[in-house]
Amino acid sequence: MNLNINHDQWDREHLWHPYTSTINPLPCYKVDHAEKNYIYLSDGTRLIDGMSSWWCVIHGYNNKEINEAAKAQIDRMSHVMFGGFTHQPAIDLGQELLAVAPKGMHNIFYADSGSVAVEVAMKMAVQYAISKTGDHRRTDFATIRSGYHGDTWNAMSVCDPVTGMHGAFGTALPVRFFAQQPRCRFGSDWDQSDFEPMKRLIEEHSDTLAAVILEPIVQGAGGMWFYHPEYLRQLRQLCDRHSILLIFDEIATGFWRTGKMWATEHTGVIPDIMCIGKGLTAGYMTMSAVLTTREVADTISNGEAGVLMHGPTFMANPLACAVALASLRLLNSTDMKAKVANMETIMKRELAPAAKKESVADVRVLGSIGVVQTVKPVNVGEFQRQCVDRGVWIRPFGTNVYIMPPYVTSDEDLVYLCRQLIEMLPK
Ligand code: PMP
Repeated sequence: MNLNINHDQWDREHLWHPYTSTINPLPCYKVDHAEKNYIYLSDGTRLIDGMSSWWCVIHGYNNKEINEAAKAQIDRMSHVMFGGFTHQPAIDLGQELLAVAPKGMHNIFYADSGSVAVEVAMKMAVQYAISKTGDHRRTDFATIRSGYHGDTWNAMSVCDPVTGMHGAFGTALPVRFFAQQPRCRFGSDWDQSDFEPMKRLIEEHSDTLAAVILEPIVQGAGGMWFYHPEYLRQLRQLCDRHSILLIFDEIATGFWRTGKMWATEHTGVIPDIMCIGKGLTAGYMTMSAVLTTREVADTISNGEAGVLMHGPTFMANPLACAVALASLRLLNSTDMKAKVANMETIMKRELAPAAKKESVADVRVLGSIGVVQTVKPVNVGEFQRQCVDRGVWIRPFGTNVYIMPPYVTSDEDLVYLCRQLIEMLPK
């Protein structure tokens, strides 16, 4: 290995970055440090962060309270196995999570990442369905098009088959049932025909479905789409009628991103199983959790296996729990409703002019998520070069140019971010 080689070149040659070619990689900028909503590159360039590092850095970078919680915990213990042991950070976090979780959530499974939480939720659903009905055919899943649930095997299988990764894996992936994407927008009038495809699908396949899994209200990486709460209310009723579990993936939407603590609060619907991640540890480390009802947990425990068949090495990692607890306490001590409502007002006002451009198909804002959908896919590499020149950080995918900045972003920075976003789009 030639150690004299320039570090950036070494990175290009040896380190895989997400969804980027090793032969012709997208540009990659070296970060030196980050503070609040600013990311500082090694050449001194300061970027206003529009991405919260893929939704997770909710309180901004280098937060004093969370740093202190991490340091205090690291001096006690970074990790200890959760099999046969428990610890205060896991208990405190669990208690405080249940206090803010949708009513009825009773049992918590701590997992490693968002994708793993989805795997665990799907395993729970299958074990529940078999334990409850004794029917071993109840192992399949339904979802909606344009969803995204992660990169592991089963999570991939319920991602959108076209915009997701099905093409690359072909028949290796389990085949799931997909209903058309809900088209009725959040905030518009409800159109009953929107629910018909899901209704038909469930009625046709009810004896083989263990669960329906979807992202409530906001579909993230599968299309950045906001749909009508009534869809989920009707889905809840239909699932109940057919004894099918309802899994909400709140990994991207949780922790106030949509203007409420959980996106499902826009609907009044309580899922049977709920996945959370990303903002859970405020972007400090990887951890997720799967929350469920006592009925689901106890039915699994009364089943043939007698236990939920999952138990990862880093389950309930104490350092991650301590960090998550500090983050949750910060959220609880802040008027998050007002904060996110203010971000929403600014983004609605500042992004609206984008709709006048010919290159723009749609503009939508919900909570602290702002989306400008373009007519043609954006050239990510070129767009990011412009971002760095203008001192902002936005990473589009396909036709979606979107921002969901950290909650510590000032009004002034948010306005700047929105205006730069619009200026970077073609006419
Ligand atoms: N579900 C949703 C809704 C997500 O947005 C993501 C990540 N983008 C995941 C699951 C997967 O999470 P992770 O990347 O932590 O595995």
